[in-house]
Amino acid sequence: MTSIAIIGGGFSGLMSTVHIFKNAKTPVHLHIINSGNEFPRGVAYSTICDWHVLNVRAFNMSAFPDEPNHFINWLKHHPKYINANEDELIISFIPRKIYGEYLISIWEKLQQEIKSSANSNVTVHHSSAVAAEFRNGKTEISLDNNEKIIADKIILATGHSVPTQPDFISDSVATSKFYFGNPWSKWENNFTEYEGDAFIIGSGLTMVDTVLSLLNKKFKGKIYFNSRHGLLPLSHQHFIKSEFLSLNDLPSPRLLDTIKIFRKWVKLFKSEGKPEFLAADKFRAITQQIWRGWTLHEKKYFLRFLKTPWNVARHRIADEVFQTLDNAMKEGKLIYVPGKITSVTENENGIAVQVSKNKNNIQIFRTTHLFNCTGPKDSYKNSTNPFIRSLINSGVAMHDDLDMGLKVADNYAVKNSKGETSDSIFTTGVVIKGSYWESFAVPDLRKQVKAVSENLVMSLSN
Ligand SMILES: Cc1cc2nc3c(=O)[nH]c(=O)nc-3n(C[C@H](O)[C@H](O)[C@H](O)COP(=O)(O)OP(=O)(O)OC[C@H]3O[C@@H](n4cnc5c(N)ncnc54)[C@H](O)[C@@H]3O)c2cc1C
Repeated sequence: MTSIAIIGGGFSGLMSTVHIFKNAKTPVHLHIINSGNEFPRGVAYSTICDWHVLNVRAFNMSAFPDEPNHFINWLKHHPKYINANEDELIISFIPRKIYGEYLISIWEKLQQEIKSSANSNVTVHHSSAVAAEFRNGKTEISLDNNEKIIADKIILATGHSVPTQPDFISDSVATSKFYFGNPWSKWENNFTEYEGDAFIIGSGLTMVDTVLSLLNKKFKGKIYFNSRHGLLPLSHQHFIKSEFLSLNDLPSPRLLDTIKIFRKWVKLFKSEGKPEFLAADKFRAITQQIWRGWTLHEKKYFLRFLKTPWNVARHRIADEVFQTLDNAMKEGKLIYVPGKITSVTENENGIAVQVSKNKNNIQIFRTTHLFNCTGPKDSYKNSTNPFIRSLINSGVAMHDDLDMGLKVADNYAVKNSKGETSDSIFTTGVVIKGSYWESFAVPDLRKQVKAVSENLVMSLSN
């Protein structure tokens, strides 16, 4: 029987398993290897905080690209929404915990289908894949529990890396009880509120989650958050149906022409009294193609100068979340601290964070809860994932030209250090962010995961 290993058990790992099983013409043994986050919730939907909601409206969160109402239909039978008004439900932002339940329901259905198929089967390994060795066209995968799995084909669905410690965090601060290095680690479960204030490094969506968790826990102190660029999260605002642009609307695939068209839409929305950031939504359907059409130089320019404003405009937060943060800011509970962090030191009472706005304006914040919300560093050359490192060290995979992910061919198979396309290892999701840029949220991933899985199945008959 063909053995297929899916490394990573979040949305991408689960949905790869679904599509491979549905498309395989011969019996398959599917091995899902997952550790670090609950299967199949992954990092995003393992949250235990009810206030963490999706940042995509319910109507756009189906796990299946060909069944756009799949999530809504499931939701309508959920005890919490059984009496909900459908028009309101489809444009609402559902708790991520409930989206996790949706993924579990897909998994349960798949298990039943696999059971009744008689020939195929699936095994979930709750361990970490740490190394790969290649023999006779097969891969031997080592797990951290000493188990070995022999696979004919592999899908790498390893998702988000663990957040990286900023350079100014010393080893002693990193191990301090006052420091929370990984805000995705469900720290709320064992939360101890020491006397004092919280300080959050970062101002993006992870900062938003952390503030919500602290408010939900009725945290008594003040919450400071810091960013150097001064761009704060934006709200989706009331739902405006927007026609997406197509590539034909751009005079050329060049970055400068894209910026020109973007500015044209900003101006138009402004003149209509609408929020300017809606211009980012117009590009939603073609962002991946635009990215792929740019030269390396254009991509680097974008990453250096435009990435942050683009991300802020593109990845907005639910209106009710925005309101909660806004109220906390107005009450003086949540305070924005602009500037550069110049030192972080610890003593027995807490951590002192020094922030410098300019050389005449240096402030020191004493905190008993320092959160690192800067997210993972996008370096695959120095990947902290042992399995990816093993693939790179053996030359079977290679980081892309921007070092944001792995180099892949158009069929999502990884490329080796000689630039040759693998016939057995495929990948999807954040791992190919360097090649596709928007390879992150469910509306992008669902199509991609289906395509990757179909390509893998096709390669079985080659
Ligand atoms: C906090 C947060 C909120 C988000 N909110 C939304 C949202 O509202 N809407 C939306 O559309 N998208 C959202 N996203 C994007 C989200 O990442 C995707 O929707 C999707 O969940 C990604 O799934 P994934 O399977 O690719 O990755 P992940 O969810 O990261 O899953 C990968 C899994 O693989 C495991 N793994 C990695 N390496 C190994 C290894 N070597 N061995 C074993 N296991 C391994 C990881 O520990 C993890 O469990 C959010 C992301 C984050 C981080």
